[in-house]
Amino acid sequence: MEDILDLLVTIQRLDDDIKEAESTIQEIPHKITKSEKAIEEAHNNFQEKSNRVKEIKKMYKIKEGDIAENESKITKLNSQTFSVKTNEEYRAIIAEIDYLKKENEKIEDEMMVLLEEEEQLKSAVSELEEETKNIVESKQNEIKNLEKEHEELMTKQQQAKISFDEHFKKLPQDTQEVYRRISNVRDRVVCVITDTTCTGCYANLTFQFLNELKKRNKILLCGNCGRILIFVPSTK
Ligand SMILES: [Zn+2]
Repeated sequence: MEDILDLLVTIQRLDDDIKEAESTIQEIPHKITKSEKAIEEAHNNFQEKSNRVKEIKKMYKIKEGDIAENESKITKLNSQTFSVKTNEEYRAIIAEIDYLKKENEKIEDEMMVLLEEEEQLKSAVSELEEETKNIVESKQNEIKNLEKEHEELMTKQQQAKISFDEHFKKLPQDTQEVYRRISNVRDRVVCVITDTTCTGCYANLTFQFLNELKKRNKILLCGNCGRILIFVPSTK
């Protein structure tokens, strides 16, 4: 009987190992997804800022073109003033020139605003580039470690499962039945008792029951939760 009780303790320990590995294994894909998202966000954030710099450069060029176009219109209009026939025509040309000059002033102001934004963004982008690199590097490391951990846990769990089956087979048929029946309703089947409470449900054990447990000559179940209780002397 001693052998069976020790075997049950070992089996429970293996079952604990399998379940513990399982819960960690299940968490890993979420953790990987989270790291991947952080990488994506860092990339997007950097991309957004550097795209804006490119956009500003493009807009700046367009505005330079607009100014040049207006300048050449002004030059052309200026030359026309020499050949006008009427005052009315002359005034119209002057008004057009004034309008174009004001337009160019407006465009120049807009260009100043763009330059300022570009200036600010440029330093932010170079800082962000470094920051992004660091985030990506550390998150990629995290992912690598998680994948390694996953692989190791799968191996460890597989070994625990094989060992569990090997040990389980050694149990007498009726004990196997009891174990299976309890494992259908409880997360753990075997509770090691070292003092006066059930370590599964924390119910107090009677003095008489405890004495029976200490004899270690049969399989006893907790009267409250139904788990297999096994007394293990604390020196063991
Ligand atoms: Zn109990």
